[in-house]
Amino acid sequence: RPDVFTFGETMVALRGSGPLKLGGTMQVSIAGAESNVAIGLARLGHEVRWAGAVGADEAGELVLRTLRAEGVEVSGASADPGAPTGLLLFEPRLPDVTRVHYYRAGSAGSRLTADMIERAFRAAPPRVLHLTGITPALSPTARSAALHSLRLAHEYGSSVCLDVNFRARLWTAEEAAAVLGEWIPSVDLLIASDDELPLCLPSRGGSGGSADGDSADGIASQARRLRELGVGEVVVKHGAEGATAFTHDGSLHRSAKAVRAVDAVGAGDAFVAGYLSALLDGDGPAACLERAVTTGAFAVASPGDWEGAPTRAELGMLGAPPGTVVR
Ligand code: ATP
Repeated sequence: RPDVFTFGETMVALRGSGPLKLGGTMQVSIAGAESNVAIGLARLGHEVRWAGAVGADEAGELVLRTLRAEGVEVSGASADPGAPTGLLLFEPRLPDVTRVHYYRAGSAGSRLTADMIERAFRAAPPRVLHLTGITPALSPTARSAALHSLRLAHEYGSSVCLDVNFRARLWTAEEAAAVLGEWIPSVDLLIASDDELPLCLPSRGGSGGSADGDSADGIASQARRLRELGVGEVVVKHGAEGATAFTHDGSLHRSAKAVRAVDAVGAGDAFVAGYLSALLDGDGPAACLERAVTTGAFAVASPGDWEGAPTRAELGMLGAPPGTVVR
C-alpha cells in the first residue's frame, strides 16, 4: 500500500518581487495545498500518490512534471482538454505581507469528479487519505469527489487526515461548516489553525459554534468536543507560537522552531507533511509534533510553498548555529 493518497487542485504559481502593477520578472512554479503536502512527504522518503485535474496545456505539464520530479506518483491525475490549468500570482507587498491573486474559477482542477477519484483510489488504496477543506469549496463535483474518497477510505480501512484550510474567497463559513461537520465523524486526524475549529463543530445556536472564542480554554474544549464526535487526534496550529495536539493521552504543546522567516506561505502544508511522516513511522504525538514544527520552520525559512521542504537527512540542520557551513 502507498503511504498516502491525496488530491486537489494544483495551479501554476507566479511569484513577483514587488508590487504586481509595476510588472518585472516573475518566478514560475506550482502550488496546491495537497501537492505541497505530497512533496513534503516524498522528500521525507514516503510513497505518495497525488490525483487531480490539470488543463491539457503547458501549465498542466509543468504541474505534472514537477510532481513527478519530486517523486510524487501522478498516474491518477488527468488532463482536461475543456478547461485551463488554474493560476495564482504571489505579490510580496511588504516584507511580511504577501498578496495572493487567484485565477481559478472554471479551471480544470475545479472540474475534478468522483469518477476520477474512484479510479485513482482503487488503483492503489493508501494507508492514509489526506484531504483539505479547499477541494469541497471548488465546485459541486469536487465536493462529491471528496465525499466519495471518504467512503473509499472507509471501505479500504485507510485512515483519514483532514486539514481544514478554510478559504474565505471560495465559500462562506456557513457553507464550510455544513460540509466539514458532515465529514468530521470520518476523520481520524484533524489539523486546523486555531480559528478554524468552530467550522468543524455543530453550531450551538450562535454563529458557527464560535461561542468559545479562540482562547486556550476555548480551543481545548472545542478539541474535546471534536474528539467526542469521533476524531482520534486534533492538532491545532498557532503560527509562530507552535502547535498543540489533543489525543487520547491529553494535550501536548510544541513551540515553533526559531528561524528567520522569509516566506510564511506553505508553513501549514509543510507542518502536515511532517506530522503525517512521523505518524507513518509509528511515532507518538510528541515526535509527530516535533517533526511537524521542524518541517513548518523549513517552509517559513525558505522562499516558495514547498521548495524548501527537507529530506530526512536535512531535518537536523535547524539546530545548527548561525554561520554553519555543512561540508
Ligand atoms: P499557511 O496557510 O500559510 O500554510 P497555516 O496558517 O496553515 O499556514 P501556521 O500556523 O502559520 O499554518 O504554521 C504552521 C506551523 O509552521 C506552525 O505550527 C509552526 O510550527 C510553523 N511556523 C509558522 N510560522 C512560523 C515562524 N514564524 N517561525 C517558525 N515556525 C513557524
